[in-house]
Amino acid sequence: MSAQAFGTDLIVAESKTPLPEGVHLPLYMDNHATTSMDPRVLEAMLPYFTGVYGNAASRNHAFGWEAEAAVEKAREQIAKLIGATAKEIIFTSGATESNNLAIKGVAQMYKERGNHIITQATEHKAVLDTCKRLEKEGFEVTYLQVQPDGLISLDDLKAAMTDKTILVSIMYANNEIGVIQPIAEIGKLCHEKNVIFHTDGVQAVGKVPVNVQAENIDLLSLTAHKIYGPKGVGALYVRRRNPRVQLTEQINGGGHERGMRSGTLNVPGIVGLGKACEIAGEEMEAESKRLTELRDYMKAKFENALDYVHVNGNMDHHLPGNLNMSFVYVEGESLLMGINDIAVSSGSACTSATLEPSYVLKALGLGDDVAHSSIRFGLGRFNTKAEVDYVADKLITTVIKLRELSPLYEMVKEGIDLSKIEWAAH
Ligand SMILES: *Cc1c(COP(=O)(O)O)cnc(C)c1O
Repeated sequence: MSAQAFGTDLIVAESKTPLPEGVHLPLYMDNHATTSMDPRVLEAMLPYFTGVYGNAASRNHAFGWEAEAAVEKAREQIAKLIGATAKEIIFTSGATESNNLAIKGVAQMYKERGNHIITQATEHKAVLDTCKRLEKEGFEVTYLQVQPDGLISLDDLKAAMTDKTILVSIMYANNEIGVIQPIAEIGKLCHEKNVIFHTDGVQAVGKVPVNVQAENIDLLSLTAHKIYGPKGVGALYVRRRNPRVQLTEQINGGGHERGMRSGTLNVPGIVGLGKACEIAGEEMEAESKRLTELRDYMKAKFENALDYVHVNGNMDHHLPGNLNMSFVYVEGESLLMGINDIAVSSGSACTSATLEPSYVLKALGLGDDVAHSSIRFGLGRFNTKAEVDYVADKLITTVIKLRELSPLYEMVKEGIDLSKIEWAAH
């Protein structure tokens, strides 16, 4: 039987059982990809689509003043969440743009000082592809490897720095494996060496305490749609003192945002981002405790019910809502098909026609098969314990069923060492 046929059978069989109370399908547990907007954020945004629709750059009438006041309030709300000042917040269309502006902006502004940039292998594509682009323009980029637990080594970072290094870009928390890098130590090291430090803070801001002063961060990217705000709006924090960081602008126009990012501001979106930050600041402590408990509960359920499962990423330096687990000896595609009414992410990335194993999991040293059999659970503000139970139980049932059909699993259970087998070529 093909994996496809088997997966379909599973779905049909499962759909006949009634759902537990409070669980609705499809079920969303992919909050690293995006989040549902918090109704309080939507409520804050609504007036700015119709009644208060002025252009924040219109300095000569009340419509403009009201819009500008709303934008400045949002700047304060964002700044407060990350320990910055309002003037240091530059609005963008999202974190992809913020990362581009930070990295290209520094590279171009400081190219007389040096042409070397340091980043890491497990960054988001918005950082990696930007660095690759700069390599084509003559910059040299070091991609630090991570240790098997996903953390970079500070010694590696230190060793990679040269007198040509102008920028270090290391993400705060990883979007696949939830690992939180030693940001304060990296920031300290960068400042000692006079190197600008950028961090992609998308997954961390609003989830764990972030402070650009205490952690010596010079540039920080964030985006609204990962913190229960709207899509298409983000910000870049740009340090103004000790040191004052300058950027070459990437979009030219009316000179908005202190010349760093021209274009009419997305006022409703910015209001939403501000409100999302305000709520996150107020509720972070309780929310992070709740999500950590749910996450650990889910992990324990898997570990108690199944053998040959393991977590990916250091669990002591970890985002509250993230759980990335490998279900070894299960074929990844069949696993996803067996749970196709649940929105999670797999350890596979669809690139054109082929299914590639995740480069983040591969960087941890996972083999292709194990990477494919990995699932990222992204728990968020609106997930409940009933949902966690449903997802975990369904996944466990599916893994058990698939393993019953797996000759590899059979062999392992019989004590055969798979590494010693000579497979026939095909
Ligand atoms: C989602 C994400 C981005 C991209 O943000 P957009 O606002 O969608 O462009 C960048 N970095 C990380 C770590 C992310 O998770």
